[in-house]
Amino acid sequence: MLRATILLAVGLFANVLIGLPAIAQAPAEVTLTRIDCGTGATPTDVGQRFTDTFAYKDLKLTFTFSCYVIKHGDDYMVWDTGFTPGTSPNAPKVGIVDRLKELKVTAEQVKYVGISHFHGDHTGQLAPFTNATLLIGKGDWDQITSPTPMQGANVAGFKSWIDEKRKVEPLTGDKDVFGDGSVVVLRTPGHTPGHSSLLVRLKDMGPVLLSGDAAHFRENYESNGVPSFNFDRAATIASIERMKQIAANLKATIVIQHDMRDIGKLPAFPAAAK
Ligand SMILES: [Zn+2]
Repeated sequence: MLRATILLAVGLFANVLIGLPAIAQAPAEVTLTRIDCGTGATPTDVGQRFTDTFAYKDLKLTFTFSCYVIKHGDDYMVWDTGFTPGTSPNAPKVGIVDRLKELKVTAEQVKYVGISHFHGDHTGQLAPFTNATLLIGKGDWDQITSPTPMQGANVAGFKSWIDEKRKVEPLTGDKDVFGDGSVVVLRTPGHTPGHSSLLVRLKDMGPVLLSGDAAHFRENYESNGVPSFNFDRAATIASIERMKQIAANLKATIVIQHDMRDIGKLPAFPAAAK
């Protein structure tokens, strides 16, 4: 009995010494769900606008447009918002708000909306997220709020954010969204000045890296390919290299958001990767 008491006391003392709390808090459960946010109405000849080195002769790919919802404990984050429904043949038939409803999540519940970059196929459904903090690379936010935004910056998509002075966090570095390393917005500039990618670390599936448009399809990810519409070639290649090294070091699954062939890497909606 005495011996047990001493052992217990020593154990507690050891915990104090190394600064560990006696009862560790369970980590928040993190899940990741893909939401369809559009499909290319016709296949794209990627040899046209998606290479600046005349690569991909006769390669035609149908692009997909992906949104994601991340659940972290009781908090929700949306990553990319796709096209606005009904605005083009590529736009989704069902909007993200209705998709979230199927998951029993309201737009008002969403705490963070992260976007990879300011193009219209990623920023078409920002308006409903009235309570969210927008996480956007500062280089992109500066363009959206500039009197002379650069070509391709979808200023209209941010109208409610600007008019209603909603919360914005323009990012100059990586952002550990929930403070526990489980969801990190990564600085991957180049395609646009403030382009970002997202790392989601899941308990069962392991780390998942969502590309944004640092690469548009598997072939240009593998060959460090750069599209002809691109802000900074050297930065784009450096960002693809960064993603490859992260994927290798963490044994992460890379999901190229526009590549149909990567849809199956995550469970089909409404199921979540865990
Ligand atoms: Zn895109």
